[in-house]
Amino acid sequence: MTYKVAVVNASDGAAIAPALYRGISLIGWTPAPGRNYLLKPNMLNSKDSASGVTTDPRLVKAAIAFLQDKGYLPRVGDSPGNAYPGKAKKVFKESGMMEVVTSLGAIYVDFEDISPELITPDGQLIDLVGIAKPIMQHRVINMPKLKTHVQTLMTGSVKNIVMGSIQGSGKGAIHKVGNTPERFGKAIMDVYSALRPVIDLNIMDAIICMEGNGPSSGSPKAVGRILIGTDAVAVDMVAFRMAGVDPMRVPYIREAVDRSLGPESFNEIEVLGDAPTVTKFRLPSSILSSVTLYGHSLVSHYKSPVSFTRSRCTRCGECAGICPTKAILLSPYPEVEVSKCIACYSCHEVCEHNAVKVRKGIIIK
Ligand code: SF4
Ligand code: SF4
Repeated sequence: MTYKVAVVNASDGAAIAPALYRGISLIGWTPAPGRNYLLKPNMLNSKDSASGVTTDPRLVKAAIAFLQDKGYLPRVGDSPGNAYPGKAKKVFKESGMMEVVTSLGAIYVDFEDISPELITPDGQLIDLVGIAKPIMQHRVINMPKLKTHVQTLMTGSVKNIVMGSIQGSGKGAIHKVGNTPERFGKAIMDVYSALRPVIDLNIMDAIICMEGNGPSSGSPKAVGRILIGTDAVAVDMVAFRMAGVDPMRVPYIREAVDRSLGPESFNEIEVLGDAPTVTKFRLPSSILSSVTLYGHSLVSHYKSPVSFTRSRCTRCGECAGICPTKAILLSPYPEVEVSKCIACYSCHEVCEHNAVKVRKGIIIK
C-alpha cells in the first residue's frame, strides 16, 4: 500500500490557506458526504502558536473555511493537559483560538462538558479508556503541531489525537501504565488503534514548530510547511525525517510499524508537493545519545528527571495536579519524591511558566 503525504510551503500568513487547499488537492482528499467534521488542534496549554506550542489559528481558520466552502458546519475542540472543568475554554480563549472559531461561525465543542465514551482498545497495555464523546461522534480532522518531546523525542499527529482525545485523569493513567518510553509507545498505539477509524485527515502545522525541550518549554523554530495526509503515522514519519530525526528512534513509531498501523517503511510513503528539506531540530536535553540498545530506549532513574525553578514558579499546582503517580508535593514550592517518579515529564509539559527543568540525558535512545 502507498501512503500519500503532501508537504507544502506556507511561510507567511497569506500563504496558509492556498497551501492548505493545494495540499488537500495533491493527495486527492474530499470530505465524505453527509458527515459531521470535528477539527482537533493541539491546545496543550494557553501559549500561542508563535511560541511553538499550539496549532496555528490561521491554519484552523483555513480548514474551517475549506469545510464551509463544501457546505459543512465544522466543530472544533480539544482536551488540554491537566484538563479540569473550564480549562479547555480558558486555553482556547487565551491562545486566540476561540476568536477564530466563533468569528467564522464554527462550533466550539468542550470535551470536558460531555461525559466520555468508554472504549475498549483491546490493547497490550490499555483495556478501557475514556475518550471524549465528540471524537467518536464525528469524522475527525487531526491538526497537530510538529514538536520535539522530552519523553518521546518527537511528537506530531499520533500523540495529538491520542492524548487530546483522552479526558481528565485518563491521560495520567496512560502515563502510569506507560512508565518507560517503550511502554508509553505501546499504550499510545493501543489507544490509536481504536481511534484510527475515525480520523479522516491529518493537517500538520509545521509553520512554527518547537525544538529543544518540547512540547511546551522548547524554542520556536520556523519551518514554514504544512503536511497533509490521511494516515497519522505516515505524516509523522515524513515530518520527523524533515526535522532530522530517524522516525524509528521514536518509540511509538516503532510500535506502529510492528503492529502494521501505518507504513511499514518509508518506501511505502509517496511524498508530494514541495521537497521536504531537512531542517535539523535541536533535540531535548533528556535524550542522551543516539545509541539504541536492542532497539529499546532506557530510562536512568537515580535522580529526579525534573527540578523546579522557584523564581519562575507561581505555585499554581498544575504540575502536582497532572502527576500520574502523585510524586509532586507542594510545600509550598513543588518537590519530587524520586521513588514515585516515572519520568513521564507530564509536569514539564503542563507548566506554562517554564519553571520545570529537565535533567540532562536521562533517556537513552
Ligand atoms: S512548577 Fe509550574 S506548574 Fe508547577 S506549581 Fe510551579 S508554575 Fe505551577
Ligand atoms: S514528577 Fe513529573 S516526571 Fe515524575 S512522575 Fe510526576 S509528572 Fe511525571
